[in-house]
Amino acid sequence: MMHGGVILGGGGRVRERLEEEGRRARERVAALEREFAGLAEAASAAGTDDEHDPEGATLAFERQHAAALLEAAREQVAACDAALARLAAGSYGVCERCGQPIGAGRLEARPAATTCIRCAGRG
Ligand SMILES: [Zn+2]
Repeated sequence: MMHGGVILGGGGRVRERLEEEGRRARERVAALEREFAGLAEAASAAGTDDEHDPEGATLAFERQHAAALLEAAREQVAACDAALARLAAGSYGVCERCGQPIGAGRLEARPAATTCIRCAGRG
C-alpha cells in the first residue's frame, strides 16, 4: 500500500495534467524556436558586431534570453515525458534523490517534479 499512486489516487487525472503540460511546453518550444530564428536573422541582417555595436549587444542579449527560455521549455518537455514514463512504470511521485514520496501539494503545483521539496531546496 505504500507505492506510487497511493497519494494521488486517480492516476488518470495526473496523466492528463502531464500530457497537457507537455503539450503546452512543446508549443512554447516551437514559438521560441521561431523567435530565436527571427533574432538570428535580425542579427545577421543588421550585420552588427556584437561587442561594439549597441544594437548588436541588445540582439545578443535577446538571443541569450530566448536561448535560455528555449532550453527551459525543452527541459519541461523532457520532464513531462519522463514523468509520464514514471507514471507508467509505477514510480511516479517518488523523489529521485532521497527515495521519499514527493508531497501531494508539490505534485499538484508541479506535476513533473522529480524531487521532493527538501531535495529541491538543496539545489
Ligand atoms: Zn528528496
